[in-house]
Amino acid sequence: MSGSRGTSGGRSRRGNVCSFCGKGSRDAGPMVEGANDVYICASCIDLCHNLVKEERRRDNRGRGLLKTIPKPREIFEFLDQYVIGQDLAKKALSVAVHNHYKRLSHGDTATEDDVELDKSNVLLIGPTGSGKTLLARSLARQLNVPFAIGDATTLTEAGYVGEDVENILLKLLQNADYDLEAAQRGIIYLDEIDKIGKTWNNISITRDVSGEGVQQALLKMLEGTVSNVPPQGGRKHPEQQYIQLDTSNILFICGGTFVGLDKIVRKRLGRKTIGFEEEPTELDEVHELGELLREVTPDDLIEYGMIPEFVGRLPVQCALEPLDKETLTRILIEPRNAIVRQYQKFFEIENAKLEFTKESLGEIAVRAIERDTGARALRSVVEEIMLDYMYELPDRPVGGSYFVTAEVVRGEENLLKPKKARKESA
Ligand code: ADP
Repeated sequence: MSGSRGTSGGRSRRGNVCSFCGKGSRDAGPMVEGANDVYICASCIDLCHNLVKEERRRDNRGRGLLKTIPKPREIFEFLDQYVIGQDLAKKALSVAVHNHYKRLSHGDTATEDDVELDKSNVLLIGPTGSGKTLLARSLARQLNVPFAIGDATTLTEAGYVGEDVENILLKLLQNADYDLEAAQRGIIYLDEIDKIGKTWNNISITRDVSGEGVQQALLKMLEGTVSNVPPQGGRKHPEQQYIQLDTSNILFICGGTFVGLDKIVRKRLGRKTIGFEEEPTELDEVHELGELLREVTPDDLIEYGMIPEFVGRLPVQCALEPLDKETLTRILIEPRNAIVRQYQKFFEIENAKLEFTKESLGEIAVRAIERDTGARALRSVVEEIMLDYMYELPDRPVGGSYFVTAEVVRGEENLLKPKKARKESA
């Protein structure tokens, strides 16, 4: 497409043939004349325009992401909107992710003898429902990169039953709408990574048989390899066509509960652990677990049963705190998608008002702690309380104000028909 020196309006002196598609002006309509008797018809202009647009889009896909690498502080502040507490993990992740994407942009410009920046895959250690998956998911949302979640336990049994390692990559590719470039810069969260350690293998004989190969495949994936991904998923077979996906720039965040790891740390630290004068309370135990996990070293993980190569490929390790009553209460109301806010919205849609008293939130948190599944229990506790009320609400007169009290949580009072006059005001 040379710069045009003026349009001929489709009537060139020596013939009106499009130099690109060869059609005459009778078929192709008006043409634009370039230097040296070159002509181009309207549909070829459109075609070229689209080609250039597509090419630019492809270029930007790679660079666009890297132009806007958020600072660690920005990542932290974004995570703060969704994840309550866990400041240490948030900080470690913010730095790791920032460095990861910096490494990618550095890789694009690095010379041969330049410093090589290692990949900073992350290991999150923390109890169930403490926010590991939420952290990874929120990160992907902020960075606007494709995200997939895999479960290491289903992979361990591969070779016999279960999934191939590549299926996680397929999930990532699907979530990227089959945009290979985007998928290759995505984030994968691999859950239950503690279950592929040696200790666990010893429990099941079948896993020992197939475990080794899968661990090797996972290791390669973490480090960076070109994987053959079956586009339809399922097990691989020889006649299949594969999509080749390079995992070198994918950020892997692995998570695990590592039950019992605290004991290994306590043993290593010897008498330096917190000593209790009296019988420790549940709260003491929660705090002690948090403190011990913060001290975890790679050697502790190896003693726990993780294979050393694995630990080596997860250089950023951070612990998440078990959630206490206060944090759980905050989780009920503070995140942008907090459960309490969601229920208030439902009531608002019905032209009603819903408030939760401070005591009711505490009561809900205590009930959640009893279930031992972290913040995950909060939703089910609230849903159980609210189910009947949500069923009845649309039958109530509009404009009502309702208060969830500790009595309502305990089932001693009906939210929609309170027995006693409420003292608190909204
Ligand atoms: P896990 O640590 O087992 O991966 P998840 O991240 O899946 O736990 O947490 C389960 C749910 O509990 C999340 O979807 C979120 O609603 C809530 N949750 C857990 N931890 C937190 C937290 N620190 N802040 C806010 N919500 C949380």
